[in-house]
Amino acid sequence: MFDFTDIESKIPHGAVRTRFAPSPTGFMHVGGLRTALYTYLIAKKAGGTFILRIEDTDQARFVEGATEIIYSTLRGAGIDWDEGPDVGGPTPPYIQSERREIYEAYAEKLVELGGAYRDGDAIRQKIPKEGSTTFHDVVFGDITVPNDSPSMNAGVLLKSDGLPTYNFANVIDDHLMGITHVVRGSEYLSSDAKYDLLYNAFGWEIPTYVTVSPVMRDAQHKLSKRNGDPTYEDLLAQGYLTEAIVNYVALLGWSPGGEREIFNLAELAEVFDIRGISKSPAIFDIAKLRYFNAEYIRALAPEKFAALAEPYIRQAVKSESVNIADIAELIQARCEVLTDIPGKLDFIDVVSDYNTELYIHKKSKTDEKISLDVLNAIRPELDAITDWTRDAIAATCEALAVKLDAKNALVMYPLRIAVSGKAVTPGGAAEICAVLGKAESLKRVDAAIAKLEEIK
Ligand code: GLU
Repeated sequence: MFDFTDIESKIPHGAVRTRFAPSPTGFMHVGGLRTALYTYLIAKKAGGTFILRIEDTDQARFVEGATEIIYSTLRGAGIDWDEGPDVGGPTPPYIQSERREIYEAYAEKLVELGGAYRDGDAIRQKIPKEGSTTFHDVVFGDITVPNDSPSMNAGVLLKSDGLPTYNFANVIDDHLMGITHVVRGSEYLSSDAKYDLLYNAFGWEIPTYVTVSPVMRDAQHKLSKRNGDPTYEDLLAQGYLTEAIVNYVALLGWSPGGEREIFNLAELAEVFDIRGISKSPAIFDIAKLRYFNAEYIRALAPEKFAALAEPYIRQAVKSESVNIADIAELIQARCEVLTDIPGKLDFIDVVSDYNTELYIHKKSKTDEKISLDVLNAIRPELDAITDWTRDAIAATCEALAVKLDAKNALVMYPLRIAVSGKAVTPGGAAEICAVLGKAESLKRVDAAIAKLEEIK
């Protein structure tokens, strides 16, 4: 005999309990991350409990290793659960495939209670033929569904293989886990009336439904991995920081109700309010995420940025003589995503062949001839520097500009081209020379002089 009293005696009461209930598909949608985040924030704001439940009863969708991906993804985002498969809790098990006998027992009980009926080996929900069912959702308000509408079909609750459908399992689990707020995507909104009928048939309290609208690519299309839209993992691989993604995703369909946009996770947990969740679908704007990411990159402590940037710096810079921290300092304020980094540093190891027309620059009042003279003049001055620092190099360039009665750019510009071979670089001449080191900088100045001599 299944012990209903025992399992029901374990249901916690009183405090807020929310759950994120992903199916192990092997990746995390942006929309899934947002649902997880809102669910977490509702619990944390209320000093409640956030639960992770793995919904793996749809064996056809099962992907090997996917549960571990859920763990690492959520943990990486800082969305830590208080109860779940790996950490336990008062209402186990937290993996649906381990709850088979629970679903079977409750399906049979529901038949006895008159809320379901047997159909061969399966059990189906009994829906009243007449009347209507009204449910409440905090985002969408009261919704009334006629009992004869297509969404109210007598759907299967327990399949002939003994496994539950989502429509049954979610109600059983949410009740037995003491869930107070059910946060989920709007694709489930049309089924809430059916869930209410199940809660009522069991005589159980109905949780608060918090339905969130989809995340869209544009006005017509949902964000979709299949159509090439990025998942959360894709965004990380594209050089976005977790903290920036989490912050941006929180604002996709929720408004803190002020001008402020930058919130870390702990701050979100303080200000989050269900009333700020919007009914309208949110459009995912990668440009906006880039802006958030740039803000987060700039706010990082230099050591933290250097650690995150190092693998990207190493993609472009093989030379062991340059200092990673110096390069990181050079680019921290000049990249929006980490993947911007290698492309900005492609001149550090070697100067690629460039056209001497690069030396023609109106604003700096330079051309090839002037640049050659400037480089010839600065060469011995640079050579004389004993402490090779950015400030010393800059001071040397400025002194030459004074001597030539010219603007600093007249010296800085040709020098920067000479040591980089590029029109656009992260940092100016002095910063780049400092990073390259004295010997390498002088070598590049010599090569530039030779190149300009050739076209004289
Ligand atoms: N397993 C469902 C999904 O991944 C969860 C829906 C819910 O949160 O109840 O869509």
